[in-house]
Amino acid sequence: MIYKTDYHVHTWFSDGKGAPEEYIGPAVAAGLKEIGFSEHLTLFRGKLDWSMDAPEIEPYVRHIEALKESVTGIIVKTGLEVDFFPGKEKEISECLGGFDLDYVIGSVHYLGDSTVDLGPEFYEGKDMNQLFEYYFDQVSEAAASGLFDIIAHCDLIRIYGFKPTINQEPLYRKLAKSFRMHDVAFEINTNGRNRPIGDFYPERQFLKVFSEEEVPVCVNSDAHMPSRVGQYFSEAYRLVKKAGFKEMAVFDKRERFMVPI
Ligand SMILES: [Zn+2]
Ligand SMILES: [Zn+2]
Repeated sequence: MIYKTDYHVHTWFSDGKGAPEEYIGPAVAAGLKEIGFSEHLTLFRGKLDWSMDAPEIEPYVRHIEALKESVTGIIVKTGLEVDFFPGKEKEISECLGGFDLDYVIGSVHYLGDSTVDLGPEFYEGKDMNQLFEYYFDQVSEAAASGLFDIIAHCDLIRIYGFKPTINQEPLYRKLAKSFRMHDVAFEINTNGRNRPIGDFYPERQFLKVFSEEEVPVCVNSDAHMPSRVGQYFSEAYRLVKKAGFKEMAVFDKRERFMVPI
């Protein structure tokens, strides 16, 4: 029996559809042992309709803490999905410092002022070889920042199906080595299946690279509605095993534990 967790879930505290309470039933039904909430926290960009800002963290954390106490049959964890902005490490760290979190997921949605996942226009006229390298470098920097326990959708830049012409294996190898060196986990994000790319992040042929580099792995749904909690997990865990992973990363109070699969 695999100890299944889903640490990447959005509710109406950010851009998900539903109260945290509504995700518990589907999580239990999906056979999960733990569900962790990870609302978007995007600092330095003013008020965004898809993310919390600093003042909203406190009520959110309090809400999830209360839910932990009231729920039985599954363990509830408190997390955040935080946008990484190079040069802003100190501010992000200070903002997170006061909260009792189980883990922090780091994400690169922004390259400069643009997000890479809000429309294909961003990609028009760009050199994909350079863009992929730039994106992967930013993700490496996020891993190196020491701010995060898990890195989300590490090749989100694939979202609209644009591809570099260069051999991508070295990009993934360098990324995996950086994750390992900075001791962060990566996730298999099954929500990619619901997005234009139509498949999980990261690209499945490179999962072996993460396994060879011994990067800790999680399987996450990035659900934005209750019905998607634990979605496609059987397939994702099959891929995890096939890639050679022998254990999964579990988090509690920002400490990582490994459980066998
Ligand atoms: Zn994300
Ligand atoms: Zn997310």
